[in-house]
Parts: sequence; structure tokens; C-alpha cells
Amino acid sequence: MQDINTKLRAIPKVDECLRRLESHSQLDHIPLMQKTYAIRNYLQSLRQRLLADDPCPELGKGEAHFTQGLVGYVLSSDKPRFQRVVNGSGVIIHTNMGRSLLPQITVDMLANAAKWYSNLEFDLKTGKRGSRYSHVEDLICLITGAEAALVVNNNAAAVLIVLETLAKQREVIVSRGQLVEIGGSFRIPEVMERSGAKLVEVGATNRTHLRDYEIAINERTGALLRVHCSNYRIVGFTKEVSNEELVALGHQHSLPVIEDLGSGCFVDLKQFGLEHEPTVQEVVKSGVDVITFSGDKLLGGPQAGIILGKKTYIEKIKRNPLNRALRIDKFTLAALESVLRLYRDEERAFQLIPTLAMIADPLESLASKAEVCIAALKQSGLSGCRFQVVDSYARVGGGAMPEQSLASKAVAFTPDCMGLVEFEKQLRGRAIPIIGRIENRQLLIDMRTIQEDEISLVVQAIFEICSGVVNEREGLWGNIKRV
Ligand SMILES: *Cc1c(COP(=O)(O)O)cnc(C)c1O
Repeated sequence: MQDINTKLRAIPKVDECLRRLESHSQLDHIPLMQKTYAIRNYLQSLRQRLLADDPCPELGKGEAHFTQGLVGYVLSSDKPRFQRVVNGSGVIIHTNMGRSLLPQITVDMLANAAKWYSNLEFDLKTGKRGSRYSHVEDLICLITGAEAALVVNNNAAAVLIVLETLAKQREVIVSRGQLVEIGGSFRIPEVMERSGAKLVEVGATNRTHLRDYEIAINERTGALLRVHCSNYRIVGFTKEVSNEELVALGHQHSLPVIEDLGSGCFVDLKQFGLEHEPTVQEVVKSGVDVITFSGDKLLGGPQAGIILGKKTYIEKIKRNPLNRALRIDKFTLAALESVLRLYRDEERAFQLIPTLAMIADPLESLASKAEVCIAALKQSGLSGCRFQVVDSYARVGGGAMPEQSLASKAVAFTPDCMGLVEFEKQLRGRAIPIIGRIENRQLLIDMRTIQEDEISLVVQAIFEICSGVVNEREGLWGNIKRV
């Protein structure tokens, strides 16, 4: 039994490692700073494993073996972390995979906004400073019928600034059935606390009546708030107060009625077999004073929080100094304007906005996409894996319509060459990772979220994995943890 100090001494010094890497020209492009950093992490991880009584086979097999492992580790450490994935999950607005994809013309606009100077805050008529919001405010009002609008960083920021402006140090009345938590620790009660507004819960979890709001109103009340229960449903013996009733009550007491719509959709999705979600236009029409929603959920645009409603309230929110802290950048602005322009013609919106196009994609088109995939798999000469087209269910995602699914088609894989869990892991470990979902002991790649030109990526990945082509991201360093 070697003592631990002897074992630790077998770990080479950083300078020694750098010297050994000199002869490996595939690392020449990597800056010294990155190499040194990676080597330190690698050695530190070895040290920790030795101390934890891990035998560390990297150390016992000679210098060449050690260096080879280190080269792999340094190479992998240099890869950009933020990268593309193929979303075969069937969840369209997948929060963990970037929510909405943008239309091609929006992507082109983004490139322009990045490459050239712009009139971001420059009024071309007067030659003086202009407002960055003017570029989209008119469009939002045109599409929704609202009097005024403002855009901030995201919907969480929108809710925060609306409450801070209209109800700081005042009470805000919310139904107990609407105290929503969405992913990433956004909770209505907590956001409200940060805004300085005091939450007053009324009603019961399943039923809230108009009189519950009425009784709670007093001289400290600042607003009535409705929150769209995006990602859950209360079913059974339930009651919520309608917008019209709430607006009548609020206005009777000169209180603003605020609605956090969450997803915020401009088009009716009922035609695709989905439950009717109130559109932004309908909520504006119902008389709600201030409405907030996300730019990158059902709207299919960039991350943003859109605030719209009555001019008097929106003007106040615009003047809030917090607005400066939550403001959008030129990329958001460029992308949002481009997406909003498409909504002036609903047909174009459904064609060109990927989020809507994926929702609207008919089953026959998904089936034919699956057939293209099957044909290419057959042609590839793939063996060691069975595959077939299966009926599947896709989801809208983004915390919208939690209980509903969209009929879909998937290609289902049953690997014979390895276990299903390993197969899923290898797909996820590809240079362009492919994310599917495991169901009924098969790995499903749902065609609703696969873009036309991604089919060949899927086919190639499956073929290579089953033919044992070494995965370029796995290697001798696969078991080294980053420290
Ligand atoms: C998604 C959502 C939010 C947060 O929106 P982000 O744009 O993610 O900040 C807030 N409220 C509701 C009801 C939501 O569904």
C-alpha cells in the first residue's frame, strides 16, 4: 500500500504538463491561458480523487498515456459551452433549450443590428435623442388595440416594474388560485414582495368570488391582480372571477386591474385542437388596465417582457427609474420589431414564425418528415438498432397549456447494440447533441420539433453511434469532473 504522499507526488507539475503538450500541434490554437487553466483543473481533480481513494488509472500507465488523456481534456475544455442542440423532445417552447426559434428574416435583422450603427435612440426627423421603445410601441398597439406599450427584459421584470410603479407600499389583491410558481424560482408572492407591494390573498385555492375581492378592498389597496395559471390547472369544483367583473369592480374603486398573462398569444390556437387561451387582444378588450406577457413564449419572438394597456399607467411605468435597469438591448428591439411586423398578417405569422409553424404543422406533414427519416436510416445501412414511426404527443411548453398535447409523429428507436440509457447519453454527447425522450422502452425523436434540415443530423448520429464510431466528445477524460 503506497502512502498518499507518494501517490500525490506522481502527479506532474503544471509547467511539466505544459512542456509535454508542446509537441501536440492539435492544441496550438488554444491560448496559453486556457491550457494552463485546464491543466490546473485536471491535476486538481486527480488530487481530489487520490485523496478520496480513487485508484486513478490515468497515473499508473506511463507518461504517454497520461499525456494523451490530458490532451483530450484540454481540447474539450476549449470547446464553447453555449452550443446548438437538436430538440427531439416534442416540447416546442422548451425553456431549457432556448424557448422560441426566430424567423429567418428576424435572424437577418439581428445580424444587421449587430453589424451596423442604428437609430436605436436617435430621432432621424429631429436629429435629437429619441426613444428606443418608439420602434415597437406603435406596432404593439396596432396589433393588440392597446393605448400604449413598453418592453422590458422579460416578463418577470415586467411584473416587477408594474407592481413597483402602481402598488408600492400598497396592497394588491390576488386570488389564492393564482399564486403561481413558474420554473427558475419566479413566484408571484416573492416578486410582489420585492416590488414593495403587499400581497393580499383572497378566496380559496379552487374558488374565488367577486365578493372576496370586494371585501378585501380598503384605503390601502393599490391594485387588483390576475395571474394566468400558465403551468397548472385547477379542475373540478372551481370558480374564478371574469375579467369583466374584476374590471368593473376595480374601476368602481378607481383601482387599476393588472393581468400577468404569462405566455401572451396574439392568435387563437383553438383551430389546432388546443383549449382556447384568451388572446392579448381579448384581454385588452375586456378593459384590463395593464397586461404583461413574455416575448419568447407563444409570441415566438425574442426574450422580452411586454407591458401594455392604458396610457396613464404605461406612462408612469415608463418614468420609473427601474425601467433603465430592466431595459432591452438593440438585439431584442430588432428581433421584436421584425416578429411583430409579421403579426399584421396572421397567415404570414403562421408560416414564418417557427413557434406558430410548429404548433400548426399538420399531422400528415409530420408523418412525411418521419418517413424521410426512416428512408434515410434504411439507406444508411444502419444495423444494431430497430426503428419505426409511432404516434406521439408533443407539447406547447413554455408553461403554456400544461394539460394539453398536440398529436404528433415520432421516430422510435430501440437500440440492440447498447442499453437505452447509454444510447440516450451518446446522442446527448454528440458534437451537436440530440435530445430525445424515453418512452415505452424506446427513444423517441418527435418530428414536431425537428427542423427539416436536422433529419440528416439525427440519421448520421444514430448510424455513427450504432457503428461504434468514436464519439468526438468522449474519451479518456470522460470521468474527470470539472472543478
Ligand atoms: C413565464 C411566466 C412569467 C415569466 O416570464 P419570463 O419571460 O420567463 O420572465 C411570469 N408569469 C407567468 C404567469 C408566466 O407564465
